[in-house]
Amino acid sequence: MQINVRFLDKRILKYFYEEKEWIERIHFLRKSFDYHKNVNILMFDSVDELSRFKGKKVPPWVIGTYEENSIIILDYKLWKDRGVGTFNQILVHELAHVIIHNSTKYPCPIWINEGMAMYFARQIVSDQDTEDICDFEDIYKIDFSNPNIYRISSYVINLIITKYGIDNTILRLKTASEFYNDYIFGKDNVNKLLLQIRNSKI
Ligand SMILES: [Zn+2]
Repeated sequence: MQINVRFLDKRILKYFYEEKEWIERIHFLRKSFDYHKNVNILMFDSVDELSRFKGKKVPPWVIGTYEENSIIILDYKLWKDRGVGTFNQILVHELAHVIIHNSTKYPCPIWINEGMAMYFARQIVSDQDTEDICDFEDIYKIDFSNPNIYRISSYVINLIITKYGIDNTILRLKTASEFYNDYIFGKDNVNKLLLQIRNSKI
């Protein structure tokens, strides 16, 4: 199975092959987007080193990020016990960002980008806890200053994928020229989907 990732650090190989089941998941992600270009994976020893590489200050909580065709990840031993996910989960999350970045015509809104990355990385959030935080007017106004951004994004993307299917969702993501008024990703459709869920619970 061809996954086209270049491990630029020996440590990555070790971590990667400890969870072989994710090879299948990488394959599914690449096939879903029909994106097969090589992606480099680099590993760093500290957030400072990562900041120097990026040429800008990276927030201290960051464990992974991405660029054009590279994933940049902190050594797993530094965040293994933080409860944020396994090594390959974070790797697949960042790989999804790389692929979305290179597959979309227009810049992908934050919530779609994060929600899709969490979907492919199987970073599952509980529906029950999340419904309460989905009382926003406009999902496009939510940014990283909102501590619930990942949960909200994941919840809404799952609603969309359940309704339209993964292939239609990705096709739309790749071809949409504008998201805000889109019939799938648009603000009004998101509010409609959330309302349907709320009404079905009454
Ligand atoms: Zn992300």
